[in-house]
Amino acid sequence: MKILVIGSGGREHALAWKLAQSPKVQKVFVAPGNGGTATATAKNMGIENLNITDLNALAAFAKDEQIHLTVVGPEAPLAGGIVDIFRGQSLRIFGPTQKAAQLESSKDFAKAFMKRHQIPTAEYQTFSNIQEAHAYIDAKGAPIVIKADGLAAGKGVVVAMSLEEAHGAIDMMLSDNKLGDAGARVVIEEFLQGEEASFIVMVDGKNVLTLATSQDHKRLLDADQGPNTGGMGAYSPAPVVTPEIHARALREIIMPTVKGMAADGIPFTGFLYAGLMIDGKGQVKTLEFNCRMGDPETQPIMARLKSDFLIALDAAVDGKLDQVELDWDARIALGVVMAAYNYPETPRKGDVITGIPADDIDHVTFHAGTTMDNGVLKTSGGRVLCVVGLDHTTKGAQQKAYAHLDHIQFDGAQFRRDIGYRAL
Ligand code: ATP
Repeated sequence: MKILVIGSGGREHALAWKLAQSPKVQKVFVAPGNGGTATATAKNMGIENLNITDLNALAAFAKDEQIHLTVVGPEAPLAGGIVDIFRGQSLRIFGPTQKAAQLESSKDFAKAFMKRHQIPTAEYQTFSNIQEAHAYIDAKGAPIVIKADGLAAGKGVVVAMSLEEAHGAIDMMLSDNKLGDAGARVVIEEFLQGEEASFIVMVDGKNVLTLATSQDHKRLLDADQGPNTGGMGAYSPAPVVTPEIHARALREIIMPTVKGMAADGIPFTGFLYAGLMIDGKGQVKTLEFNCRMGDPETQPIMARLKSDFLIALDAAVDGKLDQVELDWDARIALGVVMAAYNYPETPRKGDVITGIPADDIDHVTFHAGTTMDNGVLKTSGGRVLCVVGLDHTTKGAQQKAYAHLDHIQFDGAQFRRDIGYRAL
């Protein structure tokens, strides 16, 4: 069977790497892929001339190549309706329809949905009128959180610790239009305190299959300092998600979401990612929904998955997720992201990468912003690699990841030294 993975990051490399291990899979195409998807295994290949914004071209490719199943990594093609286009041509694809993807593509949709279905989340109001937004902030005070309604590639959320910062964020979005249409409406919400975790499940419209829990590290620098990034590292499982919290997240957030979407006539299929905020009293609130897997969470999660992932994806597409159980490596997987010079501002491209050690049972290196340039591996994006270590302790997984990472070199490489610190 041939599989198509859409995207070019570490998440997509990890999905392709895992799927290539299935005895039923002959070939995994990754569109457009990266320097690692071309070389990882003989089954794995990047198709760099496929443009992922051309959804019809992707469907034509899937048809021509007789792709058995397509998995979508990033949110943009989902929000653009790739699942509707593929299904319209009877092509098998795992992901939400454009309407269901609104859980991620419109914060206002997600908040109104949660309110309607009594799913715990921060209190909020939505504004497109700038005076009303400023007045609401004055009435509520700081700290307060301002979110662009639409997709803004991680730049649409301002956690304002002062009123000044909050008013500035409103001006940036509603008056200066810095985020374009995505910021033409803003959600202003209550500031929540606690520890974050990523709770990702597979949904077939009705049934839910939970994946292993994980925790991301969003800030660029050690001790959660510096600017926000796409994620500088992640590990799985996340000990903050105790069995009680796990049960609570399923009962109070995931199941009501799946039931609520079905009841609203927009059944959800695909990966459903709930960003959780867990407070000191064990209360769990939803920070956000994503309708795809997280990056870098996917890398340690896939490194721990022992089952054949194709079986789960097939069951999901066929509405039979209730018949699947997943088997996980008992070890902890910890992934450290190496980013390019000047990430996240304007990352430099073209630095030569050397020294990536071969994968073994305790380590895997997933590529993200890499490209093969005439046989030379070079940086081509912000987050370049994610090095995953596996061990029975967090400390051991951390040591293994860094021991491996220390062999890898490219000019200007940036990475955190403390990934996993919350679990230590
Ligand atoms: P992502 O890149 O994860 O998709 P996003 O742009 O969709 O992010 P959110 O995940 O909603 O944005 O918010 C980004 C970060 O801002 C969260 O991970 C969290 O740290 C912080 N945050 C969001 N909402 C709140 C809140 N209500 N209270 C406190 N912090 C918050």
